[in-house]
Amino acid sequence: MDSPTGLYLLPSLFNHSCDGNAAWTCIGEVMVIRATEHISAGTEITLPYAGGYSYVERHSTLKHFMLSGCDCWLCKECKEDLKDGKAAIQRRHELYTKLLKGPKYSLAELRTLEQQIAKTYSSSRGPVRPITSKVQHAIASKLIALDSPSTLREGIKEELKALKGFGYKLHASSSASDLPIAMDRLPSMTDFYMAACIMICLSHLFLRLDDDRNAAGWLKAAVWGESGAFLSRSRSHYLLVTNAAIGGGKELFMLIMGLRIEHAGLQEFALHVL
Ligand SMILES: [Zn+2]
Repeated sequence: MDSPTGLYLLPSLFNHSCDGNAAWTCIGEVMVIRATEHISAGTEITLPYAGGYSYVERHSTLKHFMLSGCDCWLCKECKEDLKDGKAAIQRRHELYTKLLKGPKYSLAELRTLEQQIAKTYSSSRGPVRPITSKVQHAIASKLIALDSPSTLREGIKEELKALKGFGYKLHASSSASDLPIAMDRLPSMTDFYMAACIMICLSHLFLRLDDDRNAAGWLKAAVWGESGAFLSRSRSHYLLVTNAAIGGGKELFMLIMGLRIEHAGLQEFALHVL
C-alpha cells in the first residue's frame, strides 16, 4: 500500500458533506474532529470525506465511498451549472487541470484562464468558486513578483477575491483587535493550509505597504484559520480558540507555518503581534 491507511470506527459513523459542519485533521494516528460552525442540538454532523476543488474531482474520489453521490449545497450549485449543459462543468475541470499541469503561465494567460473559467459558471451561482480562487491566487503571485506599490495592492485584491471564492466571509477590520474574517463559520470544503498561506501572504503585503493594522489582522486570522476553529467571537480569545481546536495554539501554528512565516520575513512581526 502506497499511502498510510487507517480504520477509525467512531469517525466512520459521520456522513459526508463536501462543505460539512465539522472538519477532521490527523496528527499522527490521532484524528481530531472539530465543529466548524455552531451546531444546534439534533442537527446531523457531517465531514468532508475528501476535498477537491472541482465537482468532477470531488465526485471521482467520492464514488469509492458513496453509492449515491453527494447532494450537499455545494454539489447542488454545481448541478445548477449542469442544467446549462454538462459540457460547462467538464470544461471548467479541464481548465483547472490545465492550470495544475500546464506550463508556467504569464499574467495575461492567467487572466484569460480566469475569464474562461468564469464563463463556465451560471450567473445564479453563489460566491463559492474554489477553482477561480486557485487562478486568482496564481494571478496575485505574479502581481506580487512585479514588486511595485500598485501591483502589491492589486495582488491584495486578488488574494481577497480568492479567499471569498474559498467561502470566507471578509469584512474591513475596524480596530487593531478585530479580525478581517467572519468567525462564525470556517469553510470546510477547502484546504485550511492554502487559506492560511494566503492570509500570511496578505500580512506580508500589508506590512510592505506600511499598514501594520491589516498586517497584524491577517496574521492573526491565519492562526485562527489554520486551527480550523471558530467557536468564539470574543476578540481576545482567538489564540485560546486555536488551542481548543487542535491543542497547539500559536505554538503549533508557528511549527506548521514557520517556514512560510520565515519566507515572508514575518518572524519578528509574528512574535510582536501574536
Ligand atoms: Zn457535495
